[in-house]
Amino acid sequence: MAAQLKFYSTNKKSPRADFKQVLMQGLASDGGLFVPEFFPKLEKGFLANIREKEFWEIALEISQKFIQDIPPKELKKIIKDSFNFEVPLKQLDNNLYILELFHGPTLAFKDFGARFMSRLMNYYLRREKEKLNIIVATSGDTGSAVAQGFYGLSNIKVFILYPSKRITPLQEKQMTTLGKNIIALEVKGNFDDCQKLAKQILTDGELKKKINLSSANSINFGRLLPQSFYYFYGFAQYGGHCKTLKLRSCDDLIFAVPSGNFGNLTAGLMAKRMGLPVRQFIAATNANDIVPRYLKTGKFVSRVSRKTISNAMDVGNPSNFVRMLEMYSHDYKKMAKDIIGVSIGDQQTRETIKNVYRKIGYILDPHTAVGVAAAQKSNVSQPIIVLSTAHPAKFKEIVEPVIGKKILLPDQLKAVMNKKKRSIIIKNDLASVRKIILEKNSA
Ligand SMILES: *Cc1c(COP(=O)(O)O)cnc(C)c1O
Repeated sequence: MAAQLKFYSTNKKSPRADFKQVLMQGLASDGGLFVPEFFPKLEKGFLANIREKEFWEIALEISQKFIQDIPPKELKKIIKDSFNFEVPLKQLDNNLYILELFHGPTLAFKDFGARFMSRLMNYYLRREKEKLNIIVATSGDTGSAVAQGFYGLSNIKVFILYPSKRITPLQEKQMTTLGKNIIALEVKGNFDDCQKLAKQILTDGELKKKINLSSANSINFGRLLPQSFYYFYGFAQYGGHCKTLKLRSCDDLIFAVPSGNFGNLTAGLMAKRMGLPVRQFIAATNANDIVPRYLKTGKFVSRVSRKTISNAMDVGNPSNFVRMLEMYSHDYKKMAKDIIGVSIGDQQTRETIKNVYRKIGYILDPHTAVGVAAAQKSNVSQPIIVLSTAHPAKFKEIVEPVIGKKILLPDQLKAVMNKKKRSIIIKNDLASVRKIILEKNSA
């Protein structure tokens, strides 16, 4: 039996916690983010044979290193039920691959985190016979994934804070039409406001005396863990390809990650620490380039988020950045060895969508296009896997005019557009959010 893995808070003022506490609390009581004390290494033998592994086998191997209080049989069930969709690697160009992470029910990679987390939480809550309130701030895709992932669970209420008029109609429909235990709060403010409100609620001592609260944002480590699985799975698929081509080394891989709050990228850094032989990461951002600037200058200056066509990445103060700092002992030169920062403007994003479509007929969504453009701009000669974070149909208002063609809406999305929106419109202030949460808990 491996040593029990503990987590500490980035603010260093909370007691250490185990995985279950980390998952159920979301944020440490001192307001910090939980980080594992060490990153368990995957066995060499497992990595050597990873090309033959299925997604669930990789997921189970990694999960067991972090989660020691759920029997493997149960864990396997949770995994198979969470990841019941494909995760294909496609080749775009000689050295450029796309890992499609958008085949889950809400057509964005956030399904990985939301589905796994909700099932784990549900398992623990049933075991302990408890109830939980989930608070989540969203710039669009998290809300829909979390709403879908948690919908219908009787012991969990979900409060979604989203910025009014700043998400696409489809994203809004996906989170406001479910009802039941999903409560959509439409905030008169931007995404950073929503994120701040969520954090204030989660550290509200008075509220926490009355009800159980947790987060489904990527501040919750429970969401990052499942996102590390697909880095290994992408590598596994690429490994098969690379062996067939008889390339000298398959360990030269670079992942390009379209980033906003940097949860996805942090999951990649975790995979590297666990033994994934990857060379570097490209942190691909839109005009919200706080992290690329940091990697250049060593100075972290958060800013009000700017509105772009890749709206799920419009983040002016990336929440996972403190975890990244912690992983590199606050040494930006060390971090800059592993991560190349590239920022891409809207015009270049549009051009990338257009060019890739013209050249090979493949349709990129704006977020993935930022990743592809960053991969091209980075000028590295190694093979790159770009994580494709959303299906283009989710952002068809932007993509269709660029490619001059209609995008067919997958069936999951068609149905939701005809349903009625139900949201509670609130001011950008803590008291209003608090009041609603308490009301819904007394009903
Ligand atoms: C959330 C999201 C991102 C950004 O992911 P982070 O983990 O916040 O960096 C990128 N693309 C899409 C489509 C998203 O929904």
